[in-house]
Amino acid sequence: MQRFYFDHNATTPVAPEVLEAMLPVMTEVYGNASSIHHFGQTARQRLDAARKLVAELLGAEPQEIVFTSGGTEADNLAIFGVVLGNARCGHVVTTTFEHPAVLASVAQMDHTLVPVDGRGMVDPDAIRGALRPETKVISVMHANNEVGTIQPIAEIARIAAEAGIPLHSDGVQAVGKIPISVADLGVALYALSGHKIGAPKGVGALYVRKGTSLKPMMYGGRHERERRAGTENVAGAVALGRAAEWIGDHGEAENRRQAALRDRLEQSILDRIPDTRVNGAGAPRVPNTTNIRFDGIDSDALLIALDLKGFAVSSGAACSSGAPEPSHVLLAIGLSRLEARSSIRFSLGRSNTIEQVDALVEALVDSVAHLRKLAPAYA
Ligand code: PLP
Repeated sequence: MQRFYFDHNATTPVAPEVLEAMLPVMTEVYGNASSIHHFGQTARQRLDAARKLVAELLGAEPQEIVFTSGGTEADNLAIFGVVLGNARCGHVVTTTFEHPAVLASVAQMDHTLVPVDGRGMVDPDAIRGALRPETKVISVMHANNEVGTIQPIAEIARIAAEAGIPLHSDGVQAVGKIPISVADLGVALYALSGHKIGAPKGVGALYVRKGTSLKPMMYGGRHERERRAGTENVAGAVALGRAAEWIGDHGEAENRRQAALRDRLEQSILDRIPDTRVNGAGAPRVPNTTNIRFDGIDSDALLIALDLKGFAVSSGAACSSGAPEPSHVLLAIGLSRLEARSSIRFSLGRSNTIEQVDALVEALVDSVAHLRKLAPAYA
């Protein structure tokens, strides 16, 4: 059976050009980038080149990029790093529909969760209203991982600047999908993850604007300008750099292609399957994501039915799958528990074609009709 992958917000395959760039680094460039001999200096050069490529993608300076083990570490470093950098404790303002990497971090300290609206959008004025004199950092995701909505980060940054509070944005689901300029966004901190953009799992980066006071979370050597101790993952950084370079060269065209496929998928579902609705409809969204509610359907049952037909989709954030709880994101945008448990996320990527989209629609038409026949509550 052929299998088709529609779960790119969970993770992406390593792209061929990324593998090609990182393989020789793993086998030949094995020096420690801190060593002063030839082996070390070769690794250092590769690391510096990768840092420059990541910085270019974000419109940042290379010294503002801190390589991390991924998005989770970048989010943690942003939040804990700023709070610890300012005082022993502090208040954080964030939103109800952030990724657990942010929500579980702020749960360790005094924080306010600002609600989002029914379209999956954050109201900048609500952020302003949640600020307190002791607020040390604001954290608002750039694009939501489940519904794909793009937040008004530049507007929130202006509010943050007026209040003199650094703004962190979790850009894990935005990078590679929309153009990013940290200067235009006005953020002090910005997190990204390699495995969402064709690099392997276990590498990411945090942009830290020059002058932002940040304490490390890990102590050890003086790596990454004393912001993240630990021998550098040169191959991972090279992979991230190559992925960033590819996005710079091809991202715009690829995103246009994926937007057309996503729109075709979404429209076909709405046209052909009754009682379906797009979660986050009407809000600006990243081009690869659609999250659709199928009334009368249990999303896990539909996920399994599709998997048996060879299609991989998601019924919630990957990190929380296996947990019986409905998606906190869908609850946050106002869905009932039942509605949240009837919703499926489709996230497209480079490998998807128009033929795959059309085949997925056929599989959905069949599976939804079959499951609805079995659902006594669905009239
Ligand atoms: N933030 C968002 C919005 C994500 O979607 C993810 C991954 O699902 C993360 C952070 C965590 O990134 P990583 O898997 O690299 O730790």
